[in-house]
Amino acid sequence: MLAKISTLALKGIDGFFVSAEVYIASGLPAYAIVGLPDAAVKEARERVVAAVRNSGFDFPSKRITVNLAPAEKKKAGTHFDLPIALGVLAASGKLGKNPPARLEESFFIGELALDGSLRPVAGVLPMLLALKDSKRTAVVPAGNSAEAAVSGVKCLAASNLKQVAEWISGSDGLNACGTVPAAEAAGSGPDLSEVKGQTFAKRALEIAAAGFHNVIMVGPPGSGKSMLAKRFGGLLPPMGPDESIETTKLYSVSGLASAGRLVRERPFREPHHTISDAALIGGGSNPRPGEVSLAHNGVLFLDEFPEFSRPAIEALREPLEAFKVTVARVKESVVYPARFLLVAAMNPCPCGYLGHSVRECSCTPLQVHKYRARISGPILDRIDLHVQLSPVKYADWEAVPKGEPSAAIAARVLKAIEIQKARFGGRDGRSNAAMTAGELRSHCALPEGASAVLELAMNKLGFSARSLDKILKVSRTIADLEGAAAIKREHVIEAVQYRMLDKSEALAGI
Ligand SMILES: [Zn+2]
Repeated sequence: MLAKISTLALKGIDGFFVSAEVYIASGLPAYAIVGLPDAAVKEARERVVAAVRNSGFDFPSKRITVNLAPAEKKKAGTHFDLPIALGVLAASGKLGKNPPARLEESFFIGELALDGSLRPVAGVLPMLLALKDSKRTAVVPAGNSAEAAVSGVKCLAASNLKQVAEWISGSDGLNACGTVPAAEAAGSGPDLSEVKGQTFAKRALEIAAAGFHNVIMVGPPGSGKSMLAKRFGGLLPPMGPDESIETTKLYSVSGLASAGRLVRERPFREPHHTISDAALIGGGSNPRPGEVSLAHNGVLFLDEFPEFSRPAIEALREPLEAFKVTVARVKESVVYPARFLLVAAMNPCPCGYLGHSVRECSCTPLQVHKYRARISGPILDRIDLHVQLSPVKYADWEAVPKGEPSAAIAARVLKAIEIQKARFGGRDGRSNAAMTAGELRSHCALPEGASAVLELAMNKLGFSARSLDKILKVSRTIADLEGAAAIKREHVIEAVQYRMLDKSEALAGI
């Protein structure tokens, strides 16, 4: 006898329909799963046998074939256990002679424990979103109830296989998935006013947030680089509903959405420099989003930037340029969104004290050169703002009053973002940082007297023509923060100060 059970699978962060077809024939007992299953799906065989028996049903000693259709698409994960088990029960007549309407019309997702109970699985939200317009019911593990509720799809939560089987036969034993958990009170994260001094760096972060410019901070240990980075997210506007859903989908497929809440705060990810390129960018034999995607719509902080492996640093090129990551696999490639603001930090030299007012640097010029060369030109090219930090002197610490609170800066940032929305027609992902050459020409006319400033920068500081585009983009953002329609000379002068790593080597860092 043949049974077909509807379920779902994932490609990247998008769900698609899968039909679990179970065919039971007489013959020597055998049990096979086909249809491009991965290792976890193949293991469903053993779990399903135990779960079916421990739920009080006989497992048929016949020839069983399970096909996950469409057969040409890869299937990964453990959530096919429940549909396969239901297929076995249905095909062996345990759920009634004619398939009940509830079995035919619903979708089933869940991993089975050996005792027949249902375990929560990753990726429930993106899978259910594929059902959004279908008006059909989904049955999910109780542990995924809160996350499933976020999808807005009609869904029921079940604790074990027996409950699901009884519900299919007509009982009312399943409860609707929980209501969407209320938003937590907007977290009052760490505030920029807690960082004393470093006015220059704070201003750079304000510009970075306003124009979506990536930023690198260069300074000795203890100059407050990571304190500043941790407060950067507080300058960004609140997440919109679409941003929230998209970021939650990435957390869901990574198995990090177990609390079932929508991600409403912009993510802040700070992977250690020993991270592999696959973990940073995404990948693995069962592709998973990397740190760059978990930072989607938020901040990626890479401390000790030159210490990251060369492949990891180079792999940042695609997300920095295209705001997405493509994980190529033999059968199919998967795309994960990865639009984040990069905040990188580094010491000025391997020992950390080059240019320090008190401590002496013990590095040779060659060591300094090699250290800086670890960040290749193409990567540095994607970082519009370079900020030099000096250690805060004790006198400063005592004398400097508390700085401006994050909320005040965020208000200016928001206005500048609104200006850009109007400028670029409200399209997603557009910002001053992402301006094309044509847009640069039409929106960044040089004011009178500014070309002399730029010429000086090129001749005296050794800036390349490449840095000039960056200076123009940053000038545009500075003008937007001020609400100025045209770029002024002082905006250009300020922007020139954020290109320290472009200075010719002899001048850099000293
Ligand atoms: Zn040094």
